[in-house]
Amino acid sequence: MTTDLVATIRARYEVAQEKIVKAAQKVGRDPADVRLLTVTKRQPLDVMQAALAAGITLMGENYPEEAVVKQQSLAFGTAVEWHMIGHVQSRKARMVVENFTLLHSLDSVKLARRLDGFCAAAGLRLPVLLQFNVGGETSKFGWQATEKADWDAFLPDVEDILALENLDVQGLMTMPPFFDNAELARPHFRRLRQLAEFLSLRYPAYNWNQLSMGTSGDFPVAVEEGATIVRLGTTILGARPKETGENYAH
Ligand SMILES: *Cc1c(COP(=O)(O)O)cnc(C)c1O
Repeated sequence: MTTDLVATIRARYEVAQEKIVKAAQKVGRDPADVRLLTVTKRQPLDVMQAALAAGITLMGENYPEEAVVKQQSLAFGTAVEWHMIGHVQSRKARMVVENFTLLHSLDSVKLARRLDGFCAAAGLRLPVLLQFNVGGETSKFGWQATEKADWDAFLPDVEDILALENLDVQGLMTMPPFFDNAELARPHFRRLRQLAEFLSLRYPAYNWNQLSMGTSGDFPVAVEEGATIVRLGTTILGARPKETGENYAH
């Protein structure tokens, strides 16, 4: 770990934080209502150690195994809060229950039931966000929510999940298509916020406050549209090593 890298990461983090403050203020939001999650997927341990030295304490990983290897290899102690932001296969559910404080990417009733079962066995509650696909891409995980006319279709799934005693639904997450122009992502972020409003009218006894949306290329727009957690990888840590299949076992 070089001190240069620590300084670089700290400077990038501060720049991103300033952009969050500006975007929040532009629309009359309190910047303190937006958390910056640093996405560490595929980043090697030395980069993560530099991030820790730079004062970063909220980290998001996409693959449970990769995350747990890192958690165990690094002397992070309790300094870091770990979120799971990637698609979770049912057979990895226990790892998520035991090693993360928030799952952003809950995308099926099947996974929800598995998580709930492991929570019950361990005496834990797991905070979760429901992942929606508001962009219509078939390659993306999450319930299809592109057209408002389709919003009733997933309500039975939502109700099944709300009924699980050990999962604590706190809001929604989305990953829109990639656009070169961040403005093109705006309707997708807006749709997720509208979906949260729709669900909060429908199920007012539950908490729909958290909106996890916005990545390196578009997070100021996401904040303007109501993001409470932005997920930033490359703009904080630099380019990720390519996926080789060997970096970590998935
Ligand atoms: C990789 C990833 C990010 C971060 O993307 P960047 O463009 O590096 O900011 C955010 N969210 C999810 C779900 C990701 O997989």
